[in-house]
Amino acid sequence: PSVVNKIAAGEIIISPVNALKEMMENSIDAGASSIDILVRDGGIKLLQITDNGSGIDKGDLPILCQRFTTSKLSKFEDLESIATYGFRGEALASISHIARLTITTKTRNEKCAWRATYSEGKMNGNPAPVAGKEGTVILVENLFYNMPSRLRALRSPSEEYGKILDVTGRYACHSQGIAFSCKKSGDSQFALTVRANLSIEERIRTVFGNKVSSNLISLQIEKLEDLRVVHVVGKMSNLDFSFKKSITPIFFINNRLVVCNTLARALRQVYANYLPKGDKPFIYLSISMHPETLDVNIHPTKREVRFLHEEEIIEVLSSKLNEEFSNIDS
Ligand code: ADP
Ligand code: MG
Repeated sequence: PSVVNKIAAGEIIISPVNALKEMMENSIDAGASSIDILVRDGGIKLLQITDNGSGIDKGDLPILCQRFTTSKLSKFEDLESIATYGFRGEALASISHIARLTITTKTRNEKCAWRATYSEGKMNGNPAPVAGKEGTVILVENLFYNMPSRLRALRSPSEEYGKILDVTGRYACHSQGIAFSCKKSGDSQFALTVRANLSIEERIRTVFGNKVSSNLISLQIEKLEDLRVVHVVGKMSNLDFSFKKSITPIFFINNRLVVCNTLARALRQVYANYLPKGDKPFIYLSISMHPETLDVNIHPTKREVRFLHEEEIIEVLSSKLNEEFSNIDS
């Protein structure tokens, strides 16, 4: 069974950035207003995420890394309308099967923090009392120590670090009200910092630099057939965001970072009419839609998302954007 669990975990977590995304989403679900990330060797040796969210009850620590342990799903119908990022209860369990996992956490009600370590889905011994602030620190060390094939398949530490900065940057742009920081352990300088109380435009400016954001156009399309769209576009030329080539488009659907190639293709066509030749658009798009129309059954590593009425939605969106752009032109 432990081999089966390990293989299953290796399907969900294929590189450090997958683990990071899951943990970041957990921090957001826990109501954190600050998320700090520390990375060593591209996240392979060490990946640490510190949040100031609600913390985890001490009583929940023993079962935390059993599969399907989740505090986010109380009844079956909730699956239909799930608003939080997590609903599978598989992320921490998976990580515990393929890495050394240490969790330090403090809820408001506790006098001190509690620290527990996990292997293969189980807590080692009992939680130990330690000093700590309210919130949670999750430390993942030696990822894939027991899966040499996965380890060999990873990119270089600097490329893995690039992927981590990429995903962190995307969440940092999107997650208003949350401060983000990310750096390599040992570095005194942060690779990325975003303060909590910034607008989406200011966040994009902070992450991607003034060159992309000097010409940002922000469009809000409210109530578009049950869609709410926040949209920011600019030109890609002269980016001073060195570690990322494929930063755009940034799509969030119901606050989940997703990939949607059909949508990307359609939008590029719209922008092609309005941008100077050869200029690529910088696209950030956040869509909220009825959860029932989203396919939530996609595999956690597959960010490609499907939704009902895809063609209709893309069409409405495209024509709406065309309208907005021609207004700006004139
Ligand atoms: P899921 O997010 O699908 O519930 P996870 O394996 O990602 O499953 O997390 C399991 C549970 O651990 C969550 O439901 C939550 O109760 C708790 N948890 C994980 N990370 C945090 C965190 N940073 N702060 C508070 N609770 C957390
Ligand atoms: Mg989760």
